[in-house]
Amino acid sequence: MSKGILFVLSGPSGVGKGTVCSALRGKLPDLVYSVSATTRSPRQGEVNGVNYFFKTRDEFLDMMQNDQLLEYAEYVGNYYGTPRDFVEKTLESGNDIILEIEVQGALQVKQKFPEGVFIFLLPPSLDELKDRIIGRGTENQATIDHRMTVAVDEINLMQHYDYAVVNDQIDCACKRIESIIIAEHCKIKK
Ligand code: 5GP
Repeated sequence: MSKGILFVLSGPSGVGKGTVCSALRGKLPDLVYSVSATTRSPRQGEVNGVNYFFKTRDEFLDMMQNDQLLEYAEYVGNYYGTPRDFVEKTLESGNDIILEIEVQGALQVKQKFPEGVFIFLLPPSLDELKDRIIGRGTENQATIDHRMTVAVDEINLMQHYDYAVVNDQIDCACKRIESIIIAEHCKIKK
């Protein structure tokens, strides 16, 4: 049996990775989603084990030290990381998996899984990105400013990716990603 394909969806915070991922989930039930571990506090409505595995800093450091994370990054004061086992077992069982992670982590995954498919989600413009972060209403001004600075640095790393998808409308972005998934399965070298 052939192994599954690892897809990484990355891009600046606020670009809508989470929303696009949930929409994809509805359309592609066979695509497996990796649930990350984080030390950030849950936002309203977020559920442990569904949106994230919410960890204390000590628990997260333990996971890091025991090599349980495929990648991790410290992002705006909190740790985020991808549990390794789940990803490896999913791929071994022949299923595709998608990671929705920030850019530093995506570059670490690229070193370990160069055969992965790296998709960069772009905002239609930087103004639009700022509006989205403000509109979410969950961040204070200092965090918004920090996230915008990080976003500009992150967009400069797009060159390391295989595909760029503009998130102008969720449905259109999903169609583009679905097309990428189909095309990757048609590749002769795979
Ligand atoms: P948020 O706090 O808004 O949920 O996420 C902040 C950023 O962390 C987002 O860009 C999100 O994609 C990213 N992120 C979520 N999970 C992971 C992970 O496991 N690893 C890395 N490197 N980034 C993640």
